[in-house]
Parts: sequence; structure tokens; C-alpha cells
Amino acid sequence: MALINCRECGSQISDSATACPRCGVAAPGGSCALVLTRPSLVGGAVRTEVHVDGRPYGNLSARGRVVVPVTPGSHHVEVRTRESPVLRQ
Ligand SMILES: [Zn+2]
Repeated sequence: MALINCRECGSQISDSATACPRCGVAAPGGSCALVLTRPSLVGGAVRTEVHVDGRPYGNLSARGRVVVPVTPGSHHVEVRTRESPVLRQ
């Protein structure tokens, strides 16, 4: 955890705060988004799951994109792969 300044009142607050404890403004550090994209046809049969700070944010399919709103600061992004099941007839 790091301390940042509230964009509204300037108070020092945690970078993980979703609202300023002094003035109440939402997203006191401002807002950002991680945009993750996957090129087409690269490992298209492999399913990928996006996790940010340990929380799942969906699957990233070929030519797909996942947008994750985050607070400013450092975040841990992990893309886990899992082979798709082989379809049998
Ligand atoms: Zn504030």
C-alpha cells in the first residue's frame, strides 16, 4: 500500500481507497483502466483467464480485449492459460 494525494482535497490517503475518508470523493486518486488485448490466431485454442490483483476479470479470447478499471498505482496482472477440451465425435 502506498499513500497518494486525494485529487479533490489533497489529503494523503491509501492508493487502494475507493473513496476519500475526508471529503468523500469517489476514486480519490483518479481513475485508470488496464486494457489487455490478444492478437488474432496466436494460440487461439488456448483459453486465457485474466486476473488482476488476484481477482478474475474474464476470459481473453483471440482478437478479444478485457478492460479492467483500476485505481492509479501498481497492480499485479496475471494471464492464466488453460487448454480447451478436445471435442470428440
Ligand atoms: Zn478528499
